[in-house]
Amino acid sequence: MLSVSNLDLFYGDAQALDGVTLEVAEGSTTAIVGANGAGKTSLIRTVAGILKPARGSIRFRGQEIAGLPSHAVCNLGVGQVAEGRQIFPSLSVRENLEMGAVIPRARASAKPTMERVLALFPRLLERMDQAAGTLSGGEQQMLAIGRCLMGKPDLIMFDEPSLGLSPALVQELFRIIRALAADGMTIILVEQNVAASLKIAQRAYVLENGRVVLSGSGVALLDDPAVRQAYLGL
Ligand code: ATP
Repeated sequence: MLSVSNLDLFYGDAQALDGVTLEVAEGSTTAIVGANGAGKTSLIRTVAGILKPARGSIRFRGQEIAGLPSHAVCNLGVGQVAEGRQIFPSLSVRENLEMGAVIPRARASAKPTMERVLALFPRLLERMDQAAGTLSGGEQQMLAIGRCLMGKPDLIMFDEPSLGLSPALVQELFRIIRALAADGMTIILVEQNVAASLKIAQRAYVLENGRVVLSGSGVALLDDPAVRQAYLGL
């Protein structure tokens, strides 16, 4: 569904992605693992059309999307839940969700989509008219995911969705990610809980200094000695 090949990205003179090549199969969950600064966020932001690569190709369902503006990428069905949530704090929960459906692909069906999203996140239903900035951290993360779903994505990229969540909420978050996957959603997951993300990933890639240094099934990487030492503390 998504084919990234030979992707290079620079911030000024500093190279953040160096020849990144990866494949994401439709309906699969793909984990991206790497230390701080490895380029995980840069990769997601480049696929989302927020950053422009210097070289390389990003094909989504066969269509070249490298260089397209982010709203166009979003309208093709590529959603992202950004690190740090990025909800609109002064708008209500309802308004934040509605904002997720402003793109053409989602607008006409916003109402039924909202019902599906609220079925997944009943806590949001109880707080529809509350200002989003007054939600708890966990609720804000659920809202960020809900808003992304309102855009009817076929591929969702999660960047550190569990950041700042309590252990109970991390479990809840993984339950939701697994439910989306079971529903056929294609998922790219960047997660500090490396073991948990590898367990649910059919495929995983390890990034170091902007390069893919290792790839394989999630289970294979869970057993890989280098991964265990560097990312699982074993
Ligand atoms: P983390 O887990 O810490 O978020 P990451 O793997 O997501 O790390 P990136 O945020 O993609 O890594 O950063 C990759 C490299 O690019 C880092 O060296 C970082 O300092 C650099 N970088 C990121 N954003 C910018 C920017 N706006 N300007 C300059 N350099 C940047």
